[in-house]
Amino acid sequence: MAVSMILTFRYRLLPTKQQHRALEAILESQRQLYNAALEERIDAYRKANVTRTYFDQAKALTEWRHDDPEASALPVNVQRATLKRLDEAYKGFFRRVKSGGKPGFPRFRGKGWFDSFGFGEFQGISIEAAKLRFKGMPGALRVHLHRQMPADAVIRTCVFRRDVKGWMVGLAAALPTRSLREGNRAVGVDLGITTFAALSDGAVIPSLKAARLAERRLRIAQRALARKKRGSKSRGKARIEVRRCHAATARRRANHLHQASARLVRDYEMIAIEALQVKGLARSSLAKDVHDASWAKFISFLRYKAAKAGIRLVEVDPRNTSQDCSGCGAKVPKELGDRQHECPHCGLTVDRDLNAARNILHRAGVGPGLRNVAGCGMRAGGNLSEPTGTRQETVESH
Ligand SMILES: [Zn+2]
Repeated sequence: MAVSMILTFRYRLLPTKQQHRALEAILESQRQLYNAALEERIDAYRKANVTRTYFDQAKALTEWRHDDPEASALPVNVQRATLKRLDEAYKGFFRRVKSGGKPGFPRFRGKGWFDSFGFGEFQGISIEAAKLRFKGMPGALRVHLHRQMPADAVIRTCVFRRDVKGWMVGLAAALPTRSLREGNRAVGVDLGITTFAALSDGAVIPSLKAARLAERRLRIAQRALARKKRGSKSRGKARIEVRRCHAATARRRANHLHQASARLVRDYEMIAIEALQVKGLARSSLAKDVHDASWAKFISFLRYKAAKAGIRLVEVDPRNTSQDCSGCGAKVPKELGDRQHECPHCGLTVDRDLNAARNILHRAGVGPGLRNVAGCGMRAGGNLSEPTGTRQETVESH
């Protein structure tokens, strides 16, 4: 069995002023192309009852580029990607109509409602030494490569996106098929708050003390900032301190997530984890945001590292992992404060998180040749998401 994957690597762009203007101009030209193509489709249907397809419009694009030097000032793949995007919007619309939904028809995009363009194929563009080059872009566009792409990654598509801070580029790359690593160690992972993760073999990954300390420092700095008078010199200083604390906290937390995910990938050949439901638990807002963000990042690190190392990551249905008994499968309701799982049916008494971690492992359905580390029997009804084949994943970039 082999694992292959498409990963998206996101990087911030460092455009010059001139390049920034060029990016804005390309974005605007693609917004206009999108709207024109939409108008043409609507007209053709209203007037002649004809459905214009992507291929019709791509053919018209070729003619237009032949006649109009302005049109051919950009790589054809950028314009094709814009037409394709409209085509996808149409297809999505009809898919939802078919399935009985009430979808909105594809809309004309106003300024501010169109924030990306890209290359549907990585042709007519090159990246070398952290610099992107393509027709229509003056000079080489610098990319902040905070993390290198694997040397054997093959870039498939490329999307430029404008956000509040400037421009990002997303490079979707195929990683060649890797064979699965030898070994049969399997583990279930239950993510928590007081303990970062409980493992089905009884081990725990503690939450990061250093990050908690840094958070305390941040809160103190924020309080100090709130006390300063507007426009005062000391307020400026306090604001710098807050910003510095923010950066330090984020850095420490990311380090911790990297270390924790690396450790799991090193120690096990199969990792089962709950599929994250970001809107799941109702917790206090700040704690919730922080944990949702760091869990999402952690899972994204795990996916990436697991794919690279050739081990299996199985994301399971998260419902009732803490309520069900990992010994007999019976439902044992408990309050949030109950730290122990005590089963009245089979007598199993274990830590609540350990019980959850074992359930997560069960649900992954331990595959042939994989040893169930928790030492429990397998149960039917596991919810196994297919771990092989090509998947679209996103690697967090900051
Ligand atoms: Zn039981």
